[in-house]
Amino acid sequence: MKNILLIATGGTIASAEDDNGLSPALTGEELAQSVPQIAGLCELDIVQPMNIDSTNMRPCDWLTIRNVIMDAYDDHDGFVILHGTDTMSYTAAALSYLIQNSRKPIVLTGSQQPMGNPFTDAKLNLYQSLLYAIGDRSHDVSIVFGGKAIAGTRARKQRTMSFNAFISVNYPSLAYIRNDRIIRSAILPTPAEIAAARPAIPPIAPTTYERIDDRVCVLKLTPGLTPAFFELLAPSYDAVILETFGMGGIPEYGADATRTYQRAIFDWVDSGRTIVMTTQVPEEGLDLGVYEVGRAYAEHPGILKGDDMTTEALVAKTMWALGQSRDAQTVRELFYRPVNHDRIANA
Ligand code: ASP
Repeated sequence: MKNILLIATGGTIASAEDDNGLSPALTGEELAQSVPQIAGLCELDIVQPMNIDSTNMRPCDWLTIRNVIMDAYDDHDGFVILHGTDTMSYTAAALSYLIQNSRKPIVLTGSQQPMGNPFTDAKLNLYQSLLYAIGDRSHDVSIVFGGKAIAGTRARKQRTMSFNAFISVNYPSLAYIRNDRIIRSAILPTPAEIAAARPAIPPIAPTTYERIDDRVCVLKLTPGLTPAFFELLAPSYDAVILETFGMGGIPEYGADATRTYQRAIFDWVDSGRTIVMTTQVPEEGLDLGVYEVGRAYAEHPGILKGDDMTTEALVAKTMWALGQSRDAQTVRELFYRPVNHDRIANA
């Protein structure tokens, strides 16, 4: 029987109602006991590094979860993290960059209704996450929720109430889970099959990282917004993820504007800071080369292009890349390196 580490961090799944509203109250043990069906699936160790609403989850907490996993890595076959849904996509993306090429699955799940609610989705989500985590063909970081497994870099919380809260953005779901059956989108060889076919190759250990730079923020352009915010952000942030219009439209308002976006953006990158261009359109990504209003930025070496990545993954990847190096060329190389299906390789 496989040995899974359950890492309970809070969220709605663990929440109970009191006079102040819902807040995490149940422990990891209590949550596991609420689903007796998991007893036959695997052996379970349970740890509780925190018990918080994921609204309060910060980059330093991602590192705590990363450390819990790596400290227990050799003694477990997989990991299931119980987490609030509101920032689960960010944590899943961050763990994708902090623990790369993991042969052992790292699965995040949670629920839209608390475990104690009679109509909860918590039981099935916990059960199916463990089912996915013991699958021989499961690996790397993913979210299992509402009957789907989604790559950790491709998930977005799309619905605040429905049980199918998450979508996979610009990439197929890794699997659908129907009761006890996992229907995978791609059947890849298991580590055992790889080892049998090429016995000389030792099992690959994951590549792990332990530093991030949390001075990264996201800005969404709105009609008429002036570029003055770049000066306001400069003292506190090393990188801005700019959600542009459409395929990459960045305005220039003409002679009445005191400062142009182009000047502000080029000053920002020339000062050694990073800018990542993405789109505020939910699907299909960015192409700065298409319209005149974007092309000026397409070839500037200090400007990184988010292409088809999610904003959540861009935040985590930029924090990770800047955590490893301050050298613009190295940051660029790390940023464009595909990790856990985060970008179409030739985008
Ligand atoms: N506010 C909760 C959280 O993210 C929502 C949830 O878990 O569904 O922790």
